[in-house]
Amino acid sequence: MTDLLQHFISRRAAMLDLLAAMVERESFTRAKKHVDSLVNFMEALFEAYGAASVRRYTQKDVGDFLLAKWNERASGKPFLFLAHVDTVHPIGSLATMPIKTEDGRFYGPGAFDMKGGAVIALEAIRALHDRDQLPDRPIHFLLTTDEEIGSPRSEALIKELAAPCELVLVMEPATKEGTIKTWRKGGGKYTLTIEGRASHAGIAPQEGINAIIEFAQQALEINRLNDLKYGTSVSITMVEGGSAGNVIPAQVRAHIDARVMTIEAMNRLHDALTSLYPKMPGAKVSCLRGSHRPPMERRPGLFEKAAAIGERHGITIYEGGTGGGSDGNFTAAMGIPTLDGLGAHGDGAHATHEHVIIDSLPRQATLIAAILKEWTASE
Ligand SMILES: [Zn+2]
Repeated sequence: MTDLLQHFISRRAAMLDLLAAMVERESFTRAKKHVDSLVNFMEALFEAYGAASVRRYTQKDVGDFLLAKWNERASGKPFLFLAHVDTVHPIGSLATMPIKTEDGRFYGPGAFDMKGGAVIALEAIRALHDRDQLPDRPIHFLLTTDEEIGSPRSEALIKELAAPCELVLVMEPATKEGTIKTWRKGGGKYTLTIEGRASHAGIAPQEGINAIIEFAQQALEINRLNDLKYGTSVSITMVEGGSAGNVIPAQVRAHIDARVMTIEAMNRLHDALTSLYPKMPGAKVSCLRGSHRPPMERRPGLFEKAAAIGERHGITIYEGGTGGGSDGNFTAAMGIPTLDGLGAHGDGAHATHEHVIIDSLPRQATLIAAILKEWTASE
């Protein structure tokens, strides 16, 4: 067994304790007070793990962000770690999904997505820091708290920090098959608004323009934009419309979830959705894009390089991808080399059986430490 792997196996219990401490501090995205108490805990932790500086970015409606830096005087281009500590589990979820360890798995809300990943990255950095083996590059670690709602507050900061980087390491969980993620679909949320004209359904139905009937026709057209074979999905996910049981409806609003594999497909779909035109005389149709993440297209050579480094330390990795987005989508679309899904193995993200495979903690920490140490040497 290699030296690094042995080190992290000896740290397994400590890593689990840290993960438990993070999971105990529940951190539903919308519960700022709770998230901030986890952020306070992490701020102290970064210092204990040898960070030379920790900057706090105060936020109004989500938890604060932290940027920790190691090795600031080094000369190479920085490595940037991205980890979010917010979860989709409402405060109080611990009562129904308590922390437990069973069959080599650690259960708890947010353990897999992605507190486990934060633990792995921190352990890897600390091990190299303590051994004086950090590479000749600044190591930056951005901890955010709004990823689960699409990173509306952190997107600009993520891009600013990623711009000068050699490599971005996204500590999101692995796929449930245990692969890192070399591609991710991009996604966009659209709001479709149909305007018709209200009128009394009994006295003057002919004077109304029925927004629901207009919507029905638009819905079929939107549905035809699906191209699942090429990874494009367009799903109408929520609809509301009408005002009373005896009124021809004047308005419908619908939410659309769109996913694509490539930037080209994203642009094509965007054009199609934003140029929908009304079918019924007098109706109005508009389709506007809200939050969106560009696709992370597979970058040749990146996985191969990481895999070769892992192999030298007894860690074999596989690659895969997912329809879900992460902050890695932003940095990859900027052209910055981005490895994603480097966090814990397990299953049940956003679900009640969320868990981490405990053995993956030392394993992934070994991989991360090896990548930090050897990325340059393996050019
Ligand atoms: Zn996540």
